[in-house]
Amino acid sequence: MITTGQKIATQRTERSRLADTDLDNIKFGRVFSDHMFLMEYADGEWRTPSIVPFADMRMSPAALVLHYSQTIFEGLKAYRSEDGRVNLFRPQANIQRMNRSADRMCMPNIPEDLFLEALIELVKLDKEWIPKGEDAALYIRPFMFASDEYIGVRPSDGYRFIIFTCPVRAYYNDAVRVKVETEYSRAFPGGTGEAKCGGNYAGGLYPAMKGAQQGYHQLVWTDGLSHKYIEESGTMNIFFNIDGTLITPALDGTILRGVTRDSIIRIARDEGVKVEERQVSVEEILIAARNGRLRAAYGAGTAATIAHIASIAFGDEVFSLPNVEDRKIANLVGGKLDDIRRGRIADPYGWMVPVV
Ligand SMILES: *Cc1c(COP(=O)(O)O)cnc(C)c1O
Repeated sequence: MITTGQKIATQRTERSRLADTDLDNIKFGRVFSDHMFLMEYADGEWRTPSIVPFADMRMSPAALVLHYSQTIFEGLKAYRSEDGRVNLFRPQANIQRMNRSADRMCMPNIPEDLFLEALIELVKLDKEWIPKGEDAALYIRPFMFASDEYIGVRPSDGYRFIIFTCPVRAYYNDAVRVKVETEYSRAFPGGTGEAKCGGNYAGGLYPAMKGAQQGYHQLVWTDGLSHKYIEESGTMNIFFNIDGTLITPALDGTILRGVTRDSIIRIARDEGVKVEERQVSVEEILIAARNGRLRAAYGAGTAATIAHIASIAFGDEVFSLPNVEDRKIANLVGGKLDDIRRGRIADPYGWMVPVV
């Protein structure tokens, strides 16, 4: 069946996979909902936005993206609230960030209103895929890549923009062990650290694998020049609680501008928690850890929301972070964030965008 909405032609699947899917037992990022949004860029314009069944697609082995990584992505979630309604969390922030990533990678911007409409229509169509339960959501993955059949290094003329969705549950169940990485770098001044572009993550695999061999779940990235300043943790922003003050590295161009990071800062300040966004040196955190003043640390990102850090290693010095009681601020702020997402309390920030 083909129906034409305002702008987006929709071809519904004839065989939904939903009945064969156990939404209570899903692995993060392995299960895909029935439909995807698809739009091609050619001759300087976006054409024929459509929603079609999620399926494999054809592309040339010479597609530029496969060789030089001209590709960007986003990650956001739709939540089911307790009254059964479905909302997107801060989609405009992701749309704007995707367009900033596009600028950095010489890719075309996506019209914001069309992007939002695509998100809403896609989630509406597959809303039954959102699992039930407090830790459940629909993870949404928009991405764009260079599709020209050409193997010279230059920006592509053609692009494909796709959005698909995944039903998900909690990302990390246990607190993670991390190590401060002082040999390899994720980003550097003038580089692409602030863009959500594919190459950043490929470059992080090898150092992360080395860390995993030493027993660490994640790395804490430091600045690419001196390795003296903390940047992020894995693919999340990082927060430290020192003596009750929340401290997080300032956005300096090498750090991803996390929507979760921004939300945590806003809520924490409104709850009267002191928050500092500034340069954070490795030494300062090490000294606070030695003195027992480092009460808690955690990563912040859409996938996990808050990933508690159980221990942090600086070379051979490994510190176990204090127990659950010291996670008071994270629990308070994370709890408020969840309450807003689930519609249990009013959303004073205008963050939730209704789907149905
Ligand atoms: C996506 C991402 C984050 C978190 O951003 P959110 O908008 O909170 O999901 C942080 N760091 C990196 C490197 C990322 O890719």
